[in-house]
Amino acid sequence: MIGITATVPVEIIYAAGRIPTDLNNTFITGSRPNRLISRAEAAGFSHGICAWIKGIYATVMDRDIRNVIAVTGGDCSNTIALGEVLAGEGINIIPFEYPLHRDRDFLKQQMDGLAQTLSATWTDIAEAKSELDRVRGKLKRLDRLTYLENKITGAENHLFLVGSSDFEGDVAGFEQRLDRFLAEADARAPMQEDIRLGYLGVPPIFSGFYEFIETIGGRVVYNEVQRQFSMPYGHEDILDQYLSYTYPYDAEGRLRDIAEAVKERRLDGLIHYTQTFCYRQIYDIVLRKSLDVPMLTLEGDRPGPIDGRTALRLETFVHMLKERKGVF
Ligand code: SF4
Repeated sequence: MIGITATVPVEIIYAAGRIPTDLNNTFITGSRPNRLISRAEAAGFSHGICAWIKGIYATVMDRDIRNVIAVTGGDCSNTIALGEVLAGEGINIIPFEYPLHRDRDFLKQQMDGLAQTLSATWTDIAEAKSELDRVRGKLKRLDRLTYLENKITGAENHLFLVGSSDFEGDVAGFEQRLDRFLAEADARAPMQEDIRLGYLGVPPIFSGFYEFIETIGGRVVYNEVQRQFSMPYGHEDILDQYLSYTYPYDAEGRLRDIAEAVKERRLDGLIHYTQTFCYRQIYDIVLRKSLDVPMLTLEGDRPGPIDGRTALRLETFVHMLKERKGVF
């Protein structure tokens, strides 16, 4: 098993016959994520460090994961120090870096390095890619069922797309669950919400977030970053695929992707989720300046149900959008 701190070319891990596990997903879907945060704090991580970093650290220790691919460029600068702490605990750290300006040669070098470290051949990587492409195509269908046919909830969309960062360590099992779900969702009657929302930023640390929005007349029909994990671009070339992935590079690609979604998915408003103590909060300035759509910025700190203040802000935002749209 190889832990990954963020989305990496997972095709290489599968081609090497190893099992990837997205440490963020393992942390947040575990039975007691707050206990893991306490464990990290007991080990010396300060209160002022983002909960995801603490969760990743404690997940590695708790599950005795011996190998971790740490994304040291294009994701989170905290990962550099986290990698050093884990290395000090005897964990084998394999660094992987995305180039800020989408430099093709640099990315190729990084992928070659990862393939070499894991002893994966490019023939096997191509084979793994074609298998994953088939599943990625089905995730694209799931996304269309969400925003075009209106048969899938925001939470269902989120869960399947977020799971595609590692295909839950079992591509065949993931595909079977997805097939069953698509067949069931296809047969549903379309949902009819008043307000169509886009969700921007890292996945929410809250639970019950999407469900709450649906109780107040809204539905998330675009999960920006989770959709990026599913890589719906359909490129033949694996380098093109990872160069199209918007999240690790400069904001321009994200802005283009979001603007397209606003139009194509007829979004009434956007929710920008930010994580307490995360440098990515600063992107709120860029998003607000560049996107001409009503936007609500939320902040989450620790795992748990959405708090009263967040619920009230969501209610007020959706109410404002309903007024704006003349829906009552
Ligand atoms: S939420 Fe921000 S600070 Fe936390 S791990 Fe992600 S990028 Fe890093």
